[in-house]
Amino acid sequence: MASVEQRTPADTNGGSAATIGVENPATGELITTVPMLGADELKRMAAHAREAFPQWEAIGLPGRARIMRRAQKWMLDNADRVLDVVVSETGKTYEDAQLTDLGYTVSALGFWAKEASRYLADERVPSWRNPVLAGKKLVIRYAPLGVVGVIGPWNYPIVNSFGDCIPAMMAGNCVILKPSEVTPLSSLLMAEMMRECGLPEHVFSVATGDGATGAALIGEVDCVMFTGSTRTGKAVMKAAADTLIPCYLELGGKDPMIVCADANLERAANAAAFYSMNNGGQVCISVERCYVEAPVYDEFVRQVADTVRSLRQGVPTAAGTVDVGAVIFPPQLEIVDGHVRDAVEKGAKVLTGGHPGSGPGRYFEPTVLVDVDHSMKCMREETFGPTLPIMRIADAEEGVRLANDSSYGLQASVWTADVERGEQLARRIEAGVVCVNDAQVNYLALNLPMGGWKASGLGARHGAGGIRKYTKVQSLLVTRLGLKRELFMFPYNKRSTMLLAQMLKLLYGRGSRD
Ligand code: NAD
Repeated sequence: MASVEQRTPADTNGGSAATIGVENPATGELITTVPMLGADELKRMAAHAREAFPQWEAIGLPGRARIMRRAQKWMLDNADRVLDVVVSETGKTYEDAQLTDLGYTVSALGFWAKEASRYLADERVPSWRNPVLAGKKLVIRYAPLGVVGVIGPWNYPIVNSFGDCIPAMMAGNCVILKPSEVTPLSSLLMAEMMRECGLPEHVFSVATGDGATGAALIGEVDCVMFTGSTRTGKAVMKAAADTLIPCYLELGGKDPMIVCADANLERAANAAAFYSMNNGGQVCISVERCYVEAPVYDEFVRQVADTVRSLRQGVPTAAGTVDVGAVIFPPQLEIVDGHVRDAVEKGAKVLTGGHPGSGPGRYFEPTVLVDVDHSMKCMREETFGPTLPIMRIADAEEGVRLANDSSYGLQASVWTADVERGEQLARRIEAGVVCVNDAQVNYLALNLPMGGWKASGLGARHGAGGIRKYTKVQSLLVTRLGLKRELFMFPYNKRSTMLLAQMLKLLYGRGSRD
């Protein structure tokens, strides 16, 4: 976890004498300290980024793509080092880091290097829809914003931080990344990588620090991309309103899983265990609550509990040593423990787990809860830990109603052999992404938008919108051959007015309608 080692009076004036200690949550050991940047340093960083911007924009998409492809190779060549850094500052397993922080990022570097030119290409739009525009050239163009601020969380310190910087840079922006104070080392490693891959100075900078550093960053940039809790997201949006900059929010979730009686039960049970416990359950798109149709409920619960009971938890010393890693810091451990205790007090039963694990690192036992209902925190608030509450439902209709009984709307999943019906149910769930017979892997589909509804966010990452959001749209209208005087110009006269009226009738007045 991060701890502020020292603060001096100079810090209140924007100095960086204060440092943050970075701990390994799996062992509780201090790894190192990083500076806590203040407002003045953020100002300087932003000024440098603004100076670097014209040159970075001028390099063009092919030049930018070349650097991203070099970074892709660098990451693979240095995979062990990348994994070591991520594992040490998060306490997650090697496998969790490999699939996402490494696997996602190498894929994303290649994806944006290739697709940015398609998504950002000038678009010609037709001019024949209105006679006044006939023969004119209409073009939509995507221009970079300037300096983009990215603020990230701790659970995927590369994916949800540097991952968003890739499209922002490919769009021609300079980027300042403010990583979580708990996990800044992965972002510093990404900065080292980009330097070694030939990125011009100040195009990508990392501003280590806490919430105050993040707040200071918002005042210096032309756009903010924030990933984190809904509570902080609201503060970020308010701050963005002060300088009227675009603000994109990827926030918390309480993802429901609905299991129909005809589902492939073994696959659904394995998925429930995996997608609720991977990354220690600290995934914004974790399965956080499960609803199972009555006829298969007992068998499903038995299979999930057996799998979860067999999971190995502890210090990830090497690949394959443990299944479930640590909980990031004490406040998170308190939330997870609080949700389990609240559920038990209100009548839930713990089938396996249910307690914090033994130290010196921070752990919570992989936990399965049954006899749960919507009066309990574990069914309504984001838990973000290795717990899975499972609830019996009469039918999928009840599942949809309960799934939508939430302030969140990040993701959801429906499990059934009848995929047509699954898709129909999916369309009725209020969430930005709904999977049928799957979960979480949609995040790896970089051409598929991923963003939350309701209190889970604003905007989306991935797909065309995932890069165009880092641009200003400019529309161009070019008249090559123009009349000396357009028909509608001064002086007004009856003949041209009648002519225009006839043209409007001819163009828009034909055909029958209700
Ligand atoms: P958090 O909101 O506590 O912090 C996120 C970041 O915001 C950190 O870098 C923090 O220093 C910074 N910050 C804090 N106060 C700030 C302020 N006033 N102004 C600007 N920045 C400020 O979140 P967290 O605990 O680091 O991350 C966990 C949360 O992130 C969970 O709710 C999880 O669901 C969410 N998350 C969402 C997604 C998604 O894609 N929707 C992905 C990963 C995590």
